[in-house]
Amino acid sequence: MPVKAETSTHFIDELHIISPWAFFLAILPYIAAIAAIVFASLSGKPPMSLPAMVAVGILGGTVLACYILLIGYVNSDAGRRGMSRLAWTLLAILIPNALGIVLYFVLRKPRIATCPQCCAPLEPGFGFCPRCRYRLNPTCPKCQRSVHTGDKFCPYCGGDLGAGVNEVVDSAASPAKSSGS
Ligand SMILES: [Zn+2]
Ligand SMILES: [Zn+2]
Repeated sequence: MPVKAETSTHFIDELHIISPWAFFLAILPYIAAIAAIVFASLSGKPPMSLPAMVAVGILGGTVLACYILLIGYVNSDAGRRGMSRLAWTLLAILIPNALGIVLYFVLRKPRIATCPQCCAPLEPGFGFCPRCRYRLNPTCPKCQRSVHTGDKFCPYCGGDLGAGVNEVVDSAASPAKSSGS
């Protein structure tokens, strides 16, 4: 589906962090539904017609599968946000009506940024990677503090940034820089 790819890229990226075991577990409700339908049909006295049972099976299986995938997402996502994976996975499973999952999305911390070069964890405001010295933000040539791209003067020491400001090396920050000439 190349047409939808553009808008769903972010969602697909998020799906990739769910571990394979969650996808495997998400298949189980469907298998259980098929088994229940077969069992009910073979028993000779099905509680409802076959199309109704298939509809209930698909609906129930999908709801359970989504629930399992969400728990898998919480399990993986908590790790990259520096939160306890075990605690949040247990809360997501144990608190009924998916309230644990809702609670997780309300309380989750912002994602920890990582160095594009060595993947070391970074804190907001860092100008350089503490591990490999990769330059993360443009810095004032006078006082070496982080400044914003496009600033003309340093907000800390008043130094003229003019042509001296170090450009951001991070390619993600300016992927489509149009030449204005
Ligand atoms: Zn680094
Ligand atoms: Zn400065």
